[in-house]
Amino acid sequence: MLDLTGKNALVTGIANNRSIAWGIAQQLHAAGANLGVTYLPDDKGKMENKVRSLVEPLAPSLFLPCNVQDDGQVTATFDAVNAAWGKLDILIHCLAFANRDDLMGDFSAVSRQGFQTALDISAYSLVSLARGAKPLMTSGGSIVTLTYLGGVRVVPNYNVMGIAKAALEMNVRYLAAEMGPQQVRVNGISAGPIRTLASSAVGGILDMIHHVEAVAPLRRTVTQQEVGNAAAFLSSDLASGITGQILYVDSGYEIMGM
Ligand code: NAD
Repeated sequence: MLDLTGKNALVTGIANNRSIAWGIAQQLHAAGANLGVTYLPDDKGKMENKVRSLVEPLAPSLFLPCNVQDDGQVTATFDAVNAAWGKLDILIHCLAFANRDDLMGDFSAVSRQGFQTALDISAYSLVSLARGAKPLMTSGGSIVTLTYLGGVRVVPNYNVMGIAKAALEMNVRYLAAEMGPQQVRVNGISAGPIRTLASSAVGGILDMIHHVEAVAPLRRTVTQQEVGNAAAFLSSDLASGITGQILYVDSGYEIMGM
């Protein structure tokens, strides 16, 4: 049985009730994990208030601001985890960002700054968060990130985010190799397209969803809860022999050639 009782899980990337991270947090909570949640702070505190009231029913024992572009906030996050919990078992990396203009039109139009922003927030952040988590995963652990098919194949408009996801998936392998001797497992979930705040920035996201509904073996796209179930599995001892892998949770779309 999937049981995460006694496990401390830090979940990043909840923005609203459509977020994949929200689906993951719900499934981790249902499996008995003790939750900590981070949010992206803004000047007016709007995100903090929104996420705080959303996650309240899951009674997280930590609720922390963490902009992954701010090394000080990343350090403060893991200092707070250490002070409150002493050890960390599960880290969910479920965040990404690229400028909206870079998620449509010609890929070659991407600016140096747009390229760096996408790679920094969407790929480097896994490295910096894993580095913070590593010394706290003293009884082994599981790190799970979220990727998309556009990191291995060309998907119209996904553009620079595809490059970021390719880097992210390679991060998974290097981190898995480094942390394996410490019994820390690192895996990615490649989710099918889901309507969220982030995906709405990708030009033609509804067309992508309709295409999956027409072509994928299951003839539908996936839900946040289904991705959450897979994340809970990868975070649990049931997946104790799995590391460095990308698990497709996409209604089977990835196997199709036509
Ligand atoms: P979302 O908008 O709900 O989540 C994106 C999160 O990234 C938000 O919580 C946002 O606050 C956070 N974020 C952005 N910049 C940040 C920063 N500098 N520091 C900290 N957090 C920051 O959208 P989502 O679709 O749930 O995205 C979650 C993950 O799932 C992303 O990695 C995305 O690429 C991936 N994914 C999404 C889909 C999809 O179709 N929605 C498919 C496959 C993979």
